[in-house]
Amino acid sequence: MEENFRDSISTINEEGKRAWVFPKKPSGRLYEYRKWVSYILLIFLFSSPFIKINGNQFLMFNVLERRFNIFGFPFWPQDFHLFVISMIIGVIFVALFTVAFGRIFCGWMCPQTIFMEMVFRRIEYWIDGDRGAQIRLDKQSWNSEKIRKRLLKWFVFFIISFLIANVFLAYLISSDRLIQYVTDGPLAHISTLISLLIFTAVFYFVFAWFREQVCIIACPYGRMQGVLLDNKSIVVAYDHKRGEGEKGRKKFRKNEDRTALGNGDCIDCFQCVNVCPTGIDIRNGTQLECVNCTACIDECDSIMEKVNLPKGLIRYASEDNIEKKDKFTFTPRLKGYAAVLGILTFILVGMLFLRNDLEANILRLPGQLYERKEGNIISNVYTYKLVNKTSKDIEDVSFKLISHKGEINLVSYTSFTVPAQELAEGTLFIEINNAALSGDKDNLKIGVYSGNNLIETTTARFLAPRSYN
Ligand code: SF4
Ligand code: SF4
Repeated sequence: MEENFRDSISTINEEGKRAWVFPKKPSGRLYEYRKWVSYILLIFLFSSPFIKINGNQFLMFNVLERRFNIFGFPFWPQDFHLFVISMIIGVIFVALFTVAFGRIFCGWMCPQTIFMEMVFRRIEYWIDGDRGAQIRLDKQSWNSEKIRKRLLKWFVFFIISFLIANVFLAYLISSDRLIQYVTDGPLAHISTLISLLIFTAVFYFVFAWFREQVCIIACPYGRMQGVLLDNKSIVVAYDHKRGEGEKGRKKFRKNEDRTALGNGDCIDCFQCVNVCPTGIDIRNGTQLECVNCTACIDECDSIMEKVNLPKGLIRYASEDNIEKKDKFTFTPRLKGYAAVLGILTFILVGMLFLRNDLEANILRLPGQLYERKEGNIISNVYTYKLVNKTSKDIEDVSFKLISHKGEINLVSYTSFTVPAQELAEGTLFIEINNAALSGDKDNLKIGVYSGNNLIETTTARFLAPRSYN
């Protein structure tokens, strides 16, 4: 097979300029399934920031304030290890999936493909028409039809980009704050409005102009395919054995016995190329540009049906399936990934359930020694930090010594409230009779109480003189 197709990419022409791809409108069984999957995912993407679990946003990635909610679990900077583990699990999951099923994620689930192929491209078909009409419109001069269609398309694209930018913002700053800002009016929050317009411009640029180049040039996941895929990975593949036969592909002629002539089943109609949103020819073999969207499978199946040949010339198959007629097997590499994934998920679930609603830290004030007081009392000064990870206020909070007899005194009050999803910090003194201490550096166990309920325990180091009488 000639390899010179690898010397160029479909979206850049010989002069180095952008070659616009005009894919034919897909149709067929898999396209219908993909439409339904896209509806479900679009509902999920647009509704997740507005769904609450125990008062927590279902998904939130507030990078600026370092607050993240994943499936309704709030993650604080103190939970960073959990966040990292869930991200690692996510990456391994996608890698495992890729080893087994190629870029199925790209074709069926990636937000870029969903928005590009199932939202923007469908609007384009609706306004500009199918491939032929789009090519004609592109070539024709700026007459009233072209101006009207272009303005309408750009306007609709802008509105959708603006909507996506709003939802994106809801993921970043929380839906509550977004709704608050909308109610206050855009001019009351100029910096947020500017960010919103920048996001809108980025989405507009990506979906109106940059398009499939995200998958071909920019996406790091796409670049990893060469490492992850092997001969057993299931990908959208052209059955070259069947398609080429002994003497290669050949145009269809009625009443011709192709098998006797030695020609393969591919009738060289180019429909699989015309329908491809990344502009490639799948008959050249697995390529990085292929997002496994399955449009060519549907297209080739309908051609095969028309010429009365079996469907599946392009289908989901591995290289081994095609070369050796092998069945899909669970390779040792796949077993290794699955084992790692299972262990990490187990650790993550365990950590989530063992995690406390309140995180308490009590640290000695740096640079301060103990203080001797009347009646053989030693006093140490500390700062405390309490993080309330729940969506409810924790009221009447106080500290009590558990390991030693002594007193804990808060500066300026006896108890306080830790507001929901907030941090409370302050200073406290711990006073213990020296006779109750076992050395000059005792480890204290301290209980954090809400009313009379013990809600968390923590530890702190208590300094005392070496031989104080
Ligand atoms: S659609 Fe099928 S028959 Fe037509 S060129 Fe592609 S592989 Fe060959
Ligand atoms: S080659 Fe087929 S599956 Fe791959 S991107 Fe093109 S149309 Fe989609």
